[in-house]
Amino acid sequence: MSLQEYRAKRDTTVSGEPTGDADARAEREADARFVVHEHAASTHHYDFRLEVGGVLASWAVPKGPSTDPREKRMALPTEDHPLDYVGFEGRIPEGEYGAGAVIVWDTGTYENLTTNDDGEIIPTQDALAAGHVVFELDGKKLEGAYALTRFRSGENEAWLLVKVDDGCADARRRPTSTQRESVLSGDTVDDVADADDA
Ligand code: MN
Repeated sequence: MSLQEYRAKRDTTVSGEPTGDADARAEREADARFVVHEHAASTHHYDFRLEVGGVLASWAVPKGPSTDPREKRMALPTEDHPLDYVGFEGRIPEGEYGAGAVIVWDTGTYENLTTNDDGEIIPTQDALAAGHVVFELDGKKLEGAYALTRFRSGENEAWLLVKVDDGCADARRRPTSTQRESVLSGDTVDDVADADDA
């Protein structure tokens, strides 16, 4: 868990993104946060991020999360992001890495539910290293358990983000279509993209 790749990829004085310099590095498993960014970059996608080990472990999810347990959503790992990226919204300027509008599509806390064969909780960081983590989200749009599972390793590492079939599962909801507003500002990613320069 390191921000080296995050920093190497961007000039935060130009992009307006958090530097990560002020991060608390302590593990905060008890009230660990998650965020789902909607990111209108050259290819529109969502970024799913879980707080673990003092950073935000991150995946790009092209179609975004589903509330339907039958929907397996591709999740491609990206560089760890600083904790204060949880609240980042804005428009990354043209020419910068990830240029385009970003909103906080959902955020909240999560609880790690990953267990070993004896039913004991495995720390989130260990679960991620092993390629399978189960967690319960307490967000504004997303609730209940989800699983992230690595199905391909190496250069083209890829995971699946799937809703666990629990009381919060709902095959009819389409929150990425029907609940497009930022949970922080109320703006859609189009509002941010169309906003005049400050
Ligand atoms: Mn992104």
